[in-house]
Amino acid sequence: MFKKLTKEAIFYIFIFIAVAIIFSQLSAKNRPETKVSIIELLNELSDQNLKNKVEKIVIDEDKVILVPLDSTSPLKIAEKESLDSFSAMLKNYNFDSKYLKQIKVEVKRPSSFSFWMMNLLPILIPILLIGALIYITMRQVQGVNSKALMFGQSGAKEFSQDSKKKKTTFHDVAGSKEAKDELLEIVEFLKIPQKFIDLGARTPKGVLLIGAPGTGKTLLARAVAGEAGVPFFHISGSEFVEMFVGVGASRVRDLFRTAKKNSPCILFIDEIDAVGRQRGSGLGGSHDEREQTLNQILVEMDGFDINTNIIIMAATNRPDVLDPALLRPGRFDRRVTLELPDIREREEILKIHAIGKPMDVGVVLKKIAERTPGFSGADLHNVLNEAAILAARADLKQINTAHILHSIEKVMLGVERKSHLISDAEKRITAYHEAGHALVAHELPNTDPVRKISIISRGRIGGFTLKLPTEDRHYHKRSELLNNLTVLLGGYVVEKEILGELTTGPCNDLKEATKLARQIVTTYGMSDQLGPQTFNNHSEYIFLAREISETREYSEKVAEAIDKEIAKFINNAQKVAKTIILKQKKYLDKIVEVLLEKETIEQDEFNAIFV
Ligand code: ADP
Ligand code: MG
Ligand code: ZN
Repeated sequence: MFKKLTKEAIFYIFIFIAVAIIFSQLSAKNRPETKVSIIELLNELSDQNLKNKVEKIVIDEDKVILVPLDSTSPLKIAEKESLDSFSAMLKNYNFDSKYLKQIKVEVKRPSSFSFWMMNLLPILIPILLIGALIYITMRQVQGVNSKALMFGQSGAKEFSQDSKKKKTTFHDVAGSKEAKDELLEIVEFLKIPQKFIDLGARTPKGVLLIGAPGTGKTLLARAVAGEAGVPFFHISGSEFVEMFVGVGASRVRDLFRTAKKNSPCILFIDEIDAVGRQRGSGLGGSHDEREQTLNQILVEMDGFDINTNIIIMAATNRPDVLDPALLRPGRFDRRVTLELPDIREREEILKIHAIGKPMDVGVVLKKIAERTPGFSGADLHNVLNEAAILAARADLKQINTAHILHSIEKVMLGVERKSHLISDAEKRITAYHEAGHALVAHELPNTDPVRKISIISRGRIGGFTLKLPTEDRHYHKRSELLNNLTVLLGGYVVEKEILGELTTGPCNDLKEATKLARQIVTTYGMSDQLGPQTFNNHSEYIFLAREISETREYSEKVAEAIDKEIAKFINNAQKVAKTIILKQKKYLDKIVEVLLEKETIEQDEFNAIFV
């Protein structure tokens, strides 16, 4: 704000200076001047032939200016005493003014513009400046005031489709075919509602889009509005809940009022879980406020009559925490789930976002899709964007595969910290650790192929071994899970058996391994000891207070048995890893050697080590 103030002040000062310059220019005389004494001047005036020599006398304040008829000769300027008038002065000098009558005597009024300007400007400028400052501050305060008055307004942002150059349609959403099919009905309803009403069908009101972050919920909602050609109002659930109590409810009212005015339209409430959490389970101060807001939403949704052509779409990634009242028929009774894209869909998404990004001929989007399991649409968009930035920074005109692979790693693992100095000793430990993972993964069947090993630290990890499946898998065999467990322990075993001492490096591996072992036992029922049963720990996540309540569905004895089984699985995995590493130590050394030299090993190079 201060910056803005000074900017405006400078602007005003500038204007005043400009005005002052203009007036001083206007009043400037171009004719040459000479200074004379009063006596000299009077002498000139006592001339019979005055009329032919002098054009006029100008009295300008204390100056008496004689303007000769000949326009090339200079003006003669004499100074009189300040308070005396010209005629009084003449009298004082006993001047015979008989000839003077031949010419004009012009008195410049002291009220002349330049007089005022010259005298008042120095006073006026500061006053005006202060005035301007006060005005600006007032305006800003007013802005704040009117914002305060607007608290109750929804502040929903409208994205009117025709005002945008390019409207979003289903063509902009790759994959998600089922979701699109389902939403096509909504589009039709918005376009030709009569068709539905005539048949007495209860018109759809609310659609809940469920999906992990970045799966395209917002995009899809916007596409529905685009397909139907109706305005799209967007508000986030968190915007309802403000500092002041009661704001949320009044915002909801305002939101629905706006929507009704613009019907047919789509009202999109993003992240509805921020207000739509199950009532009565809240902790923390704002929970009353949230309940009121939620109640208001329910009231407004019920208040629609059949002819109100408004569809409310809401998005969430936590459908489990939503209040059941929201999901009742007549409210958000339609649910559309968006899954993370599979390999084919990833390729399609990449195709959409590759438009407008010149790619090298060597770039195969299918390969990129293969490399990015678990990536959401937003991640993929991000990958291509990062790749474009990399290419631009390298002053290239096209994006190549290396750029894309680089940005995949960046999106997946964080930025490379090349400047992060690690000692040679630490580098060696990291190399052995990663080589351990890679070697075990290579030797065991049923594991994902190793794509890359790196000992360049990124984010908080020292190095990584990247192994990715060749295809998306929905089921995992028991042997596969056990082998993954063994791979996870590869780093640990190398440190213990080969380097002779453990470091804190594998702590994350151990956490992952324990989690996996627990899942094998308690979720997948793959332990022979405990048999085909699940042993679930229900923990209810509540806002800010994590795992506040835990319920265990089994006895103390079973808990002990579970712990024993988990330990058994991990010990077995450790044994297998140890056998492999001791038996294939020459390959381990080779991998380490290459890693220390090149810092990263790609898939082909890695496989070449074993031939
Ligand atoms: P969400 O609201 O589910 O968190 P968004 O709709 O904001 O996700 O998606 C973020 C971005 O990801 C979109 O703007 C788009 O660029 C990209 N994206 C996500 N899913 C898709 C998809 N199916 N097709 C094309 N782009 C997608
Ligand atoms: Mg979103
Ligand atoms: Zn590790």
